[in-house]
Amino acid sequence: MSRDFRLFNTLTGQVESLIPIEPGHLRFYSCGPTVYSYAHIGNFRSFLTADLILRTARAIGWKTTYVTNITDVGHLTDDDTMDPSGEDRMARALQSKEGQRFANVWDLSRHYSSALQSDWLTLNLLEPDVQPRATEHIREQIQTIEKLLACGAAYQTSSGVYFSVESFPNYGSLSGNKAAEALELAVRDVVVDPEKKDPRDFALWKKDAEHLMQWYSPWGWGFPGWHIECSVMAQAYLGEQIDLHAGGEDLIFPHHECEIAQAEALTKRPFSRHWVHTRFLQVEGRKMAKRLGNFHTVRELVNDRGVAPLALRLALISGQYRKPFNFTFSTLRDSERHVARFSEAFKLAHGARDRGHNAASTVGETLIDRYQSVLNALLDDLNTPAAIAQALDGVRTILGHKDQLDKRAYNFMRGIADLLGIVPFTKEMSADPNETKIQLEAPDTDPLTTRIEELIQARSEARKTRDFTLADKIRDELLAMNIEIKDSPNGTSWRKKSNI
Ligand code: AMP
Ligand code: ZN
Repeated sequence: MSRDFRLFNTLTGQVESLIPIEPGHLRFYSCGPTVYSYAHIGNFRSFLTADLILRTARAIGWKTTYVTNITDVGHLTDDDTMDPSGEDRMARALQSKEGQRFANVWDLSRHYSSALQSDWLTLNLLEPDVQPRATEHIREQIQTIEKLLACGAAYQTSSGVYFSVESFPNYGSLSGNKAAEALELAVRDVVVDPEKKDPRDFALWKKDAEHLMQWYSPWGWGFPGWHIECSVMAQAYLGEQIDLHAGGEDLIFPHHECEIAQAEALTKRPFSRHWVHTRFLQVEGRKMAKRLGNFHTVRELVNDRGVAPLALRLALISGQYRKPFNFTFSTLRDSERHVARFSEAFKLAHGARDRGHNAASTVGETLIDRYQSVLNALLDDLNTPAAIAQALDGVRTILGHKDQLDKRAYNFMRGIADLLGIVPFTKEMSADPNETKIQLEAPDTDPLTTRIEELIQARSEARKTRDFTLADKIRDELLAMNIEIKDSPNGTSWRKKSNI
């Protein structure tokens, strides 16, 4: 039976079990960055929420399909207030002082996309299954807009194509912005296209034959709106209905609200079952802003200030995703100390990797319990502070019992590395490529593992009594089960043989 993974669902306002439509297979979309500048640590806090969801789902044995996009066109400066009167963020960035070093907007987008990939690796985020770009899916976006027009959910004016909010009575169900006054408030300060039928209507396509990035469409030259990009790409790779959609809290309205409207107007079925939003990061108690001098990117902290990448990762996940999070340099210093301890414990545990169970010590069992506590904390609405505290407790146990460690200490550290991504792996410490997924001997060991351990025990006894015929027979039986064994002065270890 699958473990219960509970997460707050913005749609229902409750912590609920995450239940994939296809049992055991999580199909998950997380909104990626607009690549008009370097992603900042606030962006990465949201990406890390998605990363931890992915790691936790995998730890309980789920298959995952994870899609996170790159917005390289169509995110207007006024999109956050729904009205399409702003400038495209990419085009504006090209005109800025930093933008002058780029030949054109494509060059700018390429530069910031590859910077994103490198920061992504620096912070040890898992690779998505697909990282689609908005500009590579214009055709699908046009097709969806055509369908929305055909079914009466959209209309055309001389400046664009708009989604008609009136045609979708469920609009506002995610954000709670159902009341007409709330919506009016959200759009009050922007220039309104006089041809728009309703101030709430949002742009699906902007007609603009002068724009730096433009495509030909049934409505002439122009470019797509930001919201249409995400619902179209999510559905293209994950299907009409997905299990989970994530992003930062600013995306609840209008971006995700609009995604729901566009998708459900066509399918008439819930687009995503679960919606997860990360609270905004603040720096030293204030909103992060360039003009306040507290704006940090990953590369600035790591390359210019020499912050250890995994310490930055640990600091960014040290607060639960749903609580207000204050990034401080004091947290960063604590995280550096903790990462150094994780590293030390990992070295020791790595040395004990081939050591058989030490029956005279309870350390192995304690670490198995500790791992389960870390996992349980993550399964409980990604309670990262509790998970990190339990992981550090395990580290303390390892550092305090150096002479009692066996392979379970190694398994513990591998498990923590897989779950939290904060344990530094160097090449020579990294796992044997033939080793299959980490086997953490949980207290309720599965029957196959019990059988293997029994056979190994019987073989050791046969060897002790010099009954090598029996010992070899048992080894052959294990080999037939695809289990390889290795004898060392510290005992016998085993692993599943790779099928690759
Ligand atoms: P953007 O590049 O503005 O589209 O943002 C990319 C992602 O980062 C989105 O999910 C945003 O909600 C998220 N984000 C932006 N600023 C912050 C912040 N200060 N804290 C947490 N997440 C943020
Ligand atoms: Zn999005």
